[in-house]
Amino acid sequence: MSEKPPVKVKLEKICLDNECAEFWNKFPPELIKFTAEFIYCPYCAEELHLQCSVCKESLSSRDFKFCPWCGTEFER
Ligand SMILES: [Zn+2]
Ligand SMILES: [Zn+2]
Repeated sequence: MSEKPPVKVKLEKICLDNECAEFWNKFPPELIKFTAEFIYCPYCAEELHLQCSVCKESLSSRDFKFCPWCGTEFER
């Protein structure tokens, strides 16, 4: 199953705090795209971590054009 999704995916920002995870899960999809610009968690003020929205692996740079873990191209 190596079929890639028809839409390009974005880098996601995520807070590692478990208590924040449920807030993030309820984030409206139309607002998720803005979270890529966030630096700190809006719920606990911890610095956010980058991850791939497809495979959920963490990323060390937001300059990546492709996910180093699953090969998906990120929308710029
Ligand atoms: Zn948080
Ligand atoms: Zn990935």
